Amino acid sequence: MKSLDKLREQMRRDKVFDFVAEGYNPLRGYGRTVCKGEVDVTKGVILYVENVTVSFDGFKAINDLNLLINDGELRCIIGPNGAGKTTMMDIITGKTRPDTGKVFFGQNIDLTRMNETQVAEIGIGRKFQKPTVFPEHSVFQNLELAMKMDKRALVSLRASLSGEQLTRIDEVLELIGLADQKTLTAKLLSHGQKQWLEIGMLLMSDPRLLLVDEPVAGMTHQEMDRTAKLLNELAGKHSVVVVEHDMDFVRSIASMVTVLHEGSVLAEGSMDQVQNNDKVKEVYLGS
Ligand code: ADP
Ligand code: MG
Repeated sequence: MKSLDKLREQMRRDKVFDFVAEGYNPLRGYGRTVCKGEVDVTKGVILYVENVTVSFDGFKAINDLNLLINDGELRCIIGPNGAGKTTMMDIITGKTRPDTGKVFFGQNIDLTRMNETQVAEIGIGRKFQKPTVFPEHSVFQNLELAMKMDKRALVSLRASLSGEQLTRIDEVLELIGLADQKTLTAKLLSHGQKQWLEIGMLLMSDPRLLLVDEPVAGMTHQEMDRTAKLLNELAGKHSVVVVEHDMDFVRSIASMVTVLHEGSVLAEGSMDQVQNNDKVKEVYLGS
């Protein structure tokens, strides 16, 4: 635990290298200049949640929460019902404002000053539990619509797609494993396929950070395996935070795991480490 605390201290957003410290003058000519609106991940951290507390009618749903997500990382968040997992996602995406604490996208973008639309536009995609695809449209059209709804893509609804955009749709179809179902009406997809399509729709706007709430609920084992593979493939290019209950699934993802309990981090580490943690056994896995 000591070394983790030390690492946290080093990685604090305000303990930065000189060249990214507040008051840094880009004209001094060293380090990296960050353009307005571009997320700064000079320290390798894509998301900072610092000392965040949120109360609902005096009850602390989130209680002094601290969480760092590395750029390109795939992180699983687990915890019993009511631990604050969904509330945490609400805070990151501008749906809920923290009472105290800071939430930063990279070192420079203060998420607590943004609304949900703005958070989506700067590159944070959120997948809710229930898939919300357009049922009467084909798989391809769903991806096309997602692309056209992305303001940054600057495509008008009537304009035909450019070669580059068609290539992107094909790439995403491959990634989500629905290339063969491209012309199929979305309502005919299985539950798992709908979930992948929705992840694909989020990918059309190429988010830097993807938040996924309970992706495998209701899936078959085979679908779970494919979902684990998909999320693993996304990591690296995107940072992915997955909230999930299913322990076998979390194990199959084999990423770093954060255990949330009563609105705070109870433990963090590999699945083996957290499963062998006495505090975790007591509140969660042992029960
Ligand atoms: P999890 O997703 O880990 O199951 P939640 O974030 O949904 O947990 O909820 C954390 C706690 O906060 C729960 O006790 C829940 O009842 C409470 N809570 C969440 N949202 C609200 C709200 N809008 N108003 C009142 N209480 C809430
Ligand atoms: Mg929840």
